[in-house]
Parts: sequence; C-alpha cells; structure tokens
Amino acid sequence: MALSASKLGISSTSINSQALTIVKALTKAKYEAYLVGGCVRDLLLGAEPKDFDIATSATPEQIKSVLPSTRIIGRRFRLAHVHFGREYYEVATFRAPHDSSDKGKVGQEGRITHDNVYGTIEEDAVRRDFAINALFYDVQNDKILDFVGGMDDLEKRQLRLIGDPETRYREDPVRMLRAIRFAGKLGLSIEEKSEAPIRELAPLLTNIASARLFDESLKLFHSGKALPVLELLREYGLFECLFPATEEALGKDKDGFFKALIYDSLNNTDTRINAGMSVTPAFLFAVMLWKPMKKLEAAYREESYPDLQAMQLASSDILAQQVKSTAVPRRFSNVTREIWLQQSRFEQKSHRRAMGFLDNRRFRAAFDFLCLRSVAEKNVELQADAAWWEEFQRVDSEAQIEMCNSAP
Ligand code: ATP
Ligand code: MG
Repeated sequence: MALSASKLGISSTSINSQALTIVKALTKAKYEAYLVGGCVRDLLLGAEPKDFDIATSATPEQIKSVLPSTRIIGRRFRLAHVHFGREYYEVATFRAPHDSSDKGKVGQEGRITHDNVYGTIEEDAVRRDFAINALFYDVQNDKILDFVGGMDDLEKRQLRLIGDPETRYREDPVRMLRAIRFAGKLGLSIEEKSEAPIRELAPLLTNIASARLFDESLKLFHSGKALPVLELLREYGLFECLFPATEEALGKDKDGFFKALIYDSLNNTDTRINAGMSVTPAFLFAVMLWKPMKKLEAAYREESYPDLQAMQLASSDILAQQVKSTAVPRRFSNVTREIWLQQSRFEQKSHRRAMGFLDNRRFRAAFDFLCLRSVAEKNVELQADAAWWEEFQRVDSEAQIEMCNSAP
C-alpha cells in the first residue's frame, strides 16, 4: 500500500540533506532507495529522528560504485556506510527473511545465526521487527510504502511484531527489549499477541552476548524515558535478566531507599538527556549496583576487613558478577568504582583534603551521587555533607578556608 507522505504531514524538508543526497544518487543510477525504519516512524509520530537509515535494491558493491565514499562493513550483515567526513549513513541492501533460502540459518532455540541473503522490498519489510519499523519513505515520489500494516498500528499507537510473535522473539530475544524501549519511549502500547509471550520468553535473554545487552541497556536507560522503561522491564520480568543483583536487592528493599535512589537517579538522567546534557554509563551502574555492592561490603567487614579494602573487594565482586549479564567496558566500570570509593571522602573536610578532592576528575560524579543518596536514604548527615560541599564549591577561597576551619 502506498500513501501520500505530504498528506501524512511529512516532507523532504524534514530529512537530513546528506541522506537525501544518497537517496537521489542511488535512484539516479536506477536503483530503488528509501528511508526506512526508525526515522520514518519518528517522522510520522512527529518526533525527531535519531538517525536516517536507507534501504536499497543496490548491493554493497553497487552502492560503492555510485557513492565512492562508501565503506563496506560487517560479515554477518554486509552493510554499506556512506561517509560524509566523520559522519556516515547506513545503507542496507534489501534482505530476505532467514528461512527463504538455505543461506540463512536458524540455530539453537530458533535464533538467527546468519542472514546475508538479498531479497525484495517486501521481503525486507517482513524480516523487520515491528510493523511501525517497516515503513519505507520514497522521498522523491512523496510516498509511504506499507507492506505490513504499520500505518494502522501508528494510528492505534501500538507495537505489533510482524509474523508469529513467539517465533520472532525466539529468533532474536533482544526484540523483547526493543518492544519495551519503543513502548516506553514513544508511549505506545504493545499489542496483545505481541505482549503475551514476553514473560515466559524473558529468560532467553541470558543466551544473548553480554556486549549486546550492555548496548541495549544504555539505549533503554538513556532513552530519555528511563522510568517508564524500568517499570515495564520489571513488569515483564526482563529487568532481572539485565540486572539480576539489582532486582534481588529491590525485592528485599524494605525501607524503599534503594528504589528511591534508582527512581530519583533515573529521573535525573531523563532530565539531563532531555536537556541535551551528557550522561555516563558509569553513573547508571553506580546507581544500579550500589545496594548489592554495600551488601557484599558488609559481609567483608564482618570478616574484619578494613573499611576501604572491604569496599574495594565488594566493588570488584559485584562488577564481576554484573558483566556476566551485561558486559561493562573497563573504562566505565573503573569510573563506577571510583564514584563508590570517593563517597567516604565527603566526610573529610580539612582544607588540604577538601581542595585535593575538588580537583579530582571524579568529584562531580561522586558529588551528584552523594546528593542522590542523601535524599533517597533520608539521611540527615549525608544531607548536611551535601549542603556543605555544595557551598564549598560555590564560595571564594577565603570563605573556603573559613568553612574548613569551622567544619564539624
Ligand atoms: P532508534 O534508532 O530510534 O533506536 P530504530 O527503529 O531505528 O530505532 P535501529 O536499531 O536503528 O532501530 O534499527 C533500524 C531498523 O532495523 C529498525 O527500525 C527495524 O526495522 C530493523 N531492526 C533493528 N533491529 C532489529 C531486530 N532485532 N530484528 C528485526 N529488525 C530489526
Ligand atoms: Mg535507527
């Protein structure tokens, strides 16, 4: 089915000009080329697309001959990246679903292990995940091409998997996380049949490479809608596959302090992201693993380890546990550890130590963490520390000396 794009309220003026250049070059060379996926969905929902992906009938080599700045990447999925300086656009050749040829293989538990088979545009539509992610925008002819009922779903504001939901989740369990992300981020409901198998199939996520789950976790919690996303993940039993120690600690969180810490922090993250400010994965992990880390720390202390060493050992243990679920690259986990270990430095208010701490490159993150903790734990001593340090950063050097001299 083809619909007029301009009647749906979108036009080529909302498209990034480099993406348009690619589409025009390919069509001029007599290939089909369309915008596809998330950008078309977002444009139709009136949201700003994150990136512009292109689907084409040209093979990667043909793309390269039309657009010489192309780099061909990937083995499992051969993709063309068309470069404009540092930026690039993903241009993918129409792909057939895995089962239409013996070149695509379905491995254990029905997962797709290989699918580099070129196909028609219709085949390319049906191998995508949700119907609303399978719309093609033919910019030059002002048409939206819909082979799978994506427009209907957009109108109903629902997410529906293409094909049999259980089969599609088994092929790629990450689709369950994508369902939650789009539902949370775009405020869509998950259609009944697509929703039904999720709870039962959630444990399949444990078969997914931990590096991929790390990437997906960041997309979930840095989506700008982390709170609704967290609630949905927990509701469907998916959160425990990503953050098992966190889910366990939340189950035992009688005073509600840990839940408050997570909620306040995610709220903060959402505010920062929606204001275009930066966030670091290290902070997310510092928050999610704080209580599990503290529990291990207490156990080490009971074994008479000194405070600092108890926390160092607990930090290593909990991070080692976490990477079994979601890999955490060292450059982040090192910072997570620092944020935790710096917490005790807020008690030390001699002038020399305080000035040294202010210069520490993790001061800001550690201070933000202290502020969140002090409120979530309703801890007046921590709140007093947070207020002291807030003032200490603000005042001039003379007043800083004065503050340290009269510090409690
Ligand atoms: P966003 O980029 O806003 O997070 P998106 O829908 O563009 O959302 P991408 O991960 O960029 O998501 O993927 C681009 C398109 O590729 C999707 O819209 C979908 O059509 C297809 N796709 C991505 N991941 C899968 C998957 N696991 N299974 C099937 N199709 C997928
Ligand atoms: Mg995208």
